[in-house]
Amino acid sequence: MALAFDEFGRPFIILKEQEQKSRLRGLDAQKANISAGKAVARILRTSLGPKGMDKMLQSPDGDVIITNDGATILEQMDVDNQIAKLMVELSRSQDYEIGDGTTGVVVMAGALLEQAERLLERGIHPIRVAEGYEMASRIAVDHLENIAKKFEFGPTDLEPLIQTCMTTLSSKIVNRCKRSLAEIAVKAVLAVADLERKDVNLDLIKVEGKVGGKLEDTELIYGIVVDKDMSHPQMPKRIEDAKIAILTCPFEPPKPKTKHKVDIDTVEKFQTLRKQEQQYFDDMVQKCKDVGATLVICQWGFDDEANHLLMHRNLPAVRWVGGVELELIAIATGGRIVPRFQELSPEKLGKDTWLLFIIAIVFDLRHLDVVPCLLYSLIGWHSICYGLMCSLYCTFGISDVIIFFIKAGLVREKSFGTTKDRMLYIEHCANSRAVTIFTRGGNKMIIEETKRSLHDALCVARNLIRNNSIVYGGGSAEISCSIAVEAAADRYPGVEQYAIRAFGDALEAIPMALAENSGLQPIETLSAVKSQQIKDNNPNFGIDCNDVGTNDMREQNVFETLIGKQQQILLATQVVKMILKIDDVISPSEF
Ligand code: ADP
Repeated sequence: MALAFDEFGRPFIILKEQEQKSRLRGLDAQKANISAGKAVARILRTSLGPKGMDKMLQSPDGDVIITNDGATILEQMDVDNQIAKLMVELSRSQDYEIGDGTTGVVVMAGALLEQAERLLERGIHPIRVAEGYEMASRIAVDHLENIAKKFEFGPTDLEPLIQTCMTTLSSKIVNRCKRSLAEIAVKAVLAVADLERKDVNLDLIKVEGKVGGKLEDTELIYGIVVDKDMSHPQMPKRIEDAKIAILTCPFEPPKPKTKHKVDIDTVEKFQTLRKQEQQYFDDMVQKCKDVGATLVICQWGFDDEANHLLMHRNLPAVRWVGGVELELIAIATGGRIVPRFQELSPEKLGKDTWLLFIIAIVFDLRHLDVVPCLLYSLIGWHSICYGLMCSLYCTFGISDVIIFFIKAGLVREKSFGTTKDRMLYIEHCANSRAVTIFTRGGNKMIIEETKRSLHDALCVARNLIRNNSIVYGGGSAEISCSIAVEAAADRYPGVEQYAIRAFGDALEAIPMALAENSGLQPIETLSAVKSQQIKDNNPNFGIDCNDVGTNDMREQNVFETLIGKQQQILLATQVVKMILKIDDVISPSEF
């Protein structure tokens, strides 16, 4: 690097490395970028749809992942090319915003790039292509709004929600259990949803897994499951109506820090110190008992001596519980995390739910949705999901609900298989707003894939609570948009109309990929469905991937969320526009 001055005395820097950089300009740059983007899309194309293939990826440390989730595949691929990284980002943004449709968005972007390449070769300026794409995307998004259907769901009618989650799960490895997993996802989301504000905090849903058992054993627990056990094997394995002290402070006598020095030169001094330490811990245990705690959950550990004493004083304890879990336990039990031991008090141990639920049950408030709400807000519990209450009332009847809540605050330790593997279940809590989905499966790969698939299903259910509009899947929405976009193209007099038409063709890439992946003739199938849509003026016809015998996606119950589909189109267009606008690529050349 050197500093030089121009004829006006202005300084400028000469970068020597510049000479070592490779540079692509103009059409060459665009073509190189397009082919990089297309290469990524090509990888994901075969994974699209219910018959899509899975990918096996090995991480540098030898872990193997088998998945067909677009975001995960791209995340693990460790791509080097900058444009390929943009595609990874694209999939990640879809995952972040919507949670589903991560494969579709990349396939769509790949198709748009492919069409753009042809237009560029015909001499159309990239900016005109980008503008045309922008117009077309707006037409497509508006058209989706027109063909979208609203569906109503209530605590008693969850079927539409379940069906939509099933569509998401049908393309995953776990599709064998799609019905039960979809039901679990919907119930979990409803348990934490705030239906009034149409908001769902997915952080309140913990997805935990344990190798072993069958996929069918996956269950929803209205409470928290922690991968820990009681600190001492002789502590009780079951605590009814537990009052939990949640400690993030050390639960042991203060230890001398390294900077301090303790001189113990006689046996008596040692014994006194030991006694004092014991007394200190004994006082701590007594304090816990005095405030009424029947279980202590600590973020930190305590030594074996303390453990032994806890067992003798009959105060069960769990140590080394993570911060996120502690927060969830606090939310579920209505308790407070205690950061300083002196602050431990009875009201920090969680709320008593009895009175409220008994009032609600005695007066049989099943038909009066508003009353439980009112009750909750009166005592500051408006956050409790009344939907769950109502659905419990309606599904199980009053007597079950009584049993369900009378056992409020049950903590039990469950062991698995023949190993010493144990987990702690904290159930029937005051606030059923924190729930856990506990997945089982034959190996770690299945568990991880189940977790990823459940994440997609949970996101879909959340999106539907936020906005209950759906469009039909199986490529039907894309075909319908393509027809609308192509019809609109003629109205534009400028060069953009080529780009708009190309956008329409690109939309057809999704149904084509679905047909191809299902072993059908892509062009034949697509043209048949397209002509059917035009003939009947019905946007519900899509690709019959599972060979059900009908192309009508409404009959097949293949739904997708409107916001998910709109987001796919908008994000793909944005990225493609960005790529098209790059006309100079400067990169360090390889030596
Ligand atoms: P993404 O990661 O984009 O969600 P998927 O592999 O989950 O990708 O595939 C989703 C696509 O598969 C959507 O276009 C959806 O409409 C379609 N699809 C899902 N289930 C079916 C089905 N049973 N029949 C036809 N198409 C389906």
